[in-house]
Amino acid sequence: MNEYIIAIDLGGTSAKIAVINEEAKIKERWSVPTDISEEGKLVIPNIIQSIESFFNRENISTTQIKGIGLGTPGTINQTAGTVAAAYNLNWHGAQPIKKQFEEAFDVPFFMDNDANVAALGEQWQGAGDQAANVVMVTLGTGVGGGVVIDGHLVHGVNQAAGEIGHMTIEFDDPILCTCGKLGCLETVASATGAVNLAKHHVSSFTGTSALKDAVINHESISSYDIFQLAEEHGDPYAIMIVDTYSDYLARALSHIANTLNPAKIIIGGGVSASGEFLRERVERLFKQYSFSQIKNSTQIVLAELGNDAGIFGAAQIVNNGLSN
Ligand SMILES: [Zn+2]
Repeated sequence: MNEYIIAIDLGGTSAKIAVINEEAKIKERWSVPTDISEEGKLVIPNIIQSIESFFNRENISTTQIKGIGLGTPGTINQTAGTVAAAYNLNWHGAQPIKKQFEEAFDVPFFMDNDANVAALGEQWQGAGDQAANVVMVTLGTGVGGGVVIDGHLVHGVNQAAGEIGHMTIEFDDPILCTCGKLGCLETVASATGAVNLAKHHVSSFTGTSALKDAVINHESISSYDIFQLAEEHGDPYAIMIVDTYSDYLARALSHIANTLNPAKIIIGGGVSASGEFLRERVERLFKQYSFSQIKNSTQIVLAELGNDAGIFGAAQIVNNGLSN
């Protein structure tokens, strides 16, 4: 009986590894430091070795393993089984990831990029409640996204589906994005985006505000500071920035919902720690911008799994891959 899935969530500092049973419960979990020296060539062998020693220690044979799933940064080529351009892993050219796992373990192997995997994890075991159609938007340093339709991730013709962060959302007074384009959602609705907005609009705010003073005095501020000042202290400029931030995000989410009408749009990532303070604003504006049948059926919800979204998603790509 194939009882277990090995799920791996690979990041720049560590790889989280979990053994997940058929009831989607984590039976065992550990992590392996990510060693990016020597152009990252040790990253995968270290993970493989750690799984092999776990199998030996627990006396597990590969016949008990249904499959191995990996969520990774970078650009995935599913056909070739390679990952490229994962700069936080020091991977520049295409790495033969699938080949390395298949040579080490005689079990099916599946991988996907980390943003997609997190979306699938939330759809399956988190805020998505296993609804068939779910979109996740991750508000971190950048804005990531993943689209699940009929329970499966959407990849697009060149693996770039779900790049919600690079929807052009500001045309009149745009900020330059790290991707080279102007006015991307990421420039105004990521953690960095909140700070960008606070700097960008400071000259137009005439009232008294601690946030305004901090920006003018070139103090270091974070998105956390902005949301705190707005929520805890009622700082008028901080509230204006949070409103502007929420408005951009709600517009982008309404475009997604008007196209896909998912059951849920899940907001995750560091900025979503602001919780209901952010969600409620975004929902109100989202309803304003969405077609009536959409606003009455697509819910805006907060992510529930935190850092475990990647692990559950990595397990579910195995289930989905085997059911194809
Ligand atoms: Zn961009």
